[in-house]
Amino acid sequence: MSAPRQSQEAWITRHSWSLWNLLEERPKMILNPEYQRSSVWRGKRPKLLIDSILRGWDIGLFLFNGILIPRENGSTLPKYEVIDGQQRIRTIYDFFDGHLAISGESPDFTISGAVYDLRDKKWTDEDFPPAVRPSFHAYIIKTQVYIQKDEQEVARIFARVQDGLRLNNAERTNAIIGYIRNNIKDISGHTLLQNSRVKLIRFNRRWITANCVYREITEFVNGNFLDANLKNMKEMYNDNIRRTNIARSALAQVKRIYSYLDTQLGVRADLISKNSDFITIYMVASYLKQNDFIIDGDVINWIEFIENFIIKVGEARRMMRDTGVVSEELQQYYNYYRNMGRENGVSAKNRFDIVMEKLIALFPNVERRNSQRLFDDYQKRIIAKNANYQCQEPQDSGCSSTDVGLADGEADHIIPWIEKGPTSIENGQWLCQHCNRVKGSR
Ligand SMILES: [Zn+2]
Repeated sequence: MSAPRQSQEAWITRHSWSLWNLLEERPKMILNPEYQRSSVWRGKRPKLLIDSILRGWDIGLFLFNGILIPRENGSTLPKYEVIDGQQRIRTIYDFFDGHLAISGESPDFTISGAVYDLRDKKWTDEDFPPAVRPSFHAYIIKTQVYIQKDEQEVARIFARVQDGLRLNNAERTNAIIGYIRNNIKDISGHTLLQNSRVKLIRFNRRWITANCVYREITEFVNGNFLDANLKNMKEMYNDNIRRTNIARSALAQVKRIYSYLDTQLGVRADLISKNSDFITIYMVASYLKQNDFIIDGDVINWIEFIENFIIKVGEARRMMRDTGVVSEELQQYYNYYRNMGRENGVSAKNRFDIVMEKLIALFPNVERRNSQRLFDDYQKRIIAKNANYQCQEPQDSGCSSTDVGLADGEADHIIPWIEKGPTSIENGQWLCQHCNRVKGSR
């Protein structure tokens, strides 16, 4: 990639800026949370930063990458990508905009003998006391501006600046440039993820998308749940540097499911804030689609389902914490909780199974396309459970009516499939193998 070169004067490259420079260069700032180390500052930290400025204390180094954004007319716009200092810059801009009051514990601001009490008030840049403004603007910050470093190098600089913080999995895989990585980067900007509350920092959304792609490539839909660890994920990125059919169809599937869920959830994707929840919901939707379940339109109320599910998981977690036991009703939700935060095959499968069962049990009229005569494994489990593992239509004395386990029974259409009876839980009953054979021969 050869970006057009431009003289370094497009950016201020000296090592000290005034706050005034920071304010002037504001239109050029790209505060990209993907490079951020932690979530948004809360509590006292913003006020403490302004307090440090008032006291003339040091607030640390700011790192920028000077980049050129191409415009339609062929020219370019110089910008600063903020590698380190995003929260501090946001705080300073917030303060200038009048969104942040100075701390009540801050000192008076003194300029040539005159004392100004600025405390407990929100000041915009314009309404600052005229005598105070220039010296506030003149406060010096230390800066380092790199020029047109590529994304990988910026990620490495960032990681090293953060006290030698090691690159996380997302940053490591993101550095493997190729077909998979470029597509994952694109897909990760999807509205579904934008509406969700899953973290954006340190390429987390790319990591989530990579997980979904990995589940497709390794065919979770056929019951294969491999470990989405760094080694396997790296292999995926490396194997698929060039476009392959498997990679292409996995990526297309992820895009399709993101769009499906986006249609279903809209802004209520904000219910999802945990990676594990996102990946599990993704898998369930993808599985249903790939197994010919009819789930377009409003047959599944995803919003209600996700909201309730997450509430129950929270209840289960609190109950265990407070009492040391968890009720029968919340057991599965607790199991789900225990499998969160880990993307090894076993944890992913456990979560997937739990959500699948809860979902299809809750929407028993969800059916498979009419071409599908057989009940799906998850439907079978629910039908058997609902029947209390008893044969529901004994045909003759050969019936083994009680204790018909999953391996010993079969799900049967109440209204026959031939008569357009749907392959849904609602239209399913549990028969022992004997009765199913007898019934079938009549
Ligand atoms: Zn029977």
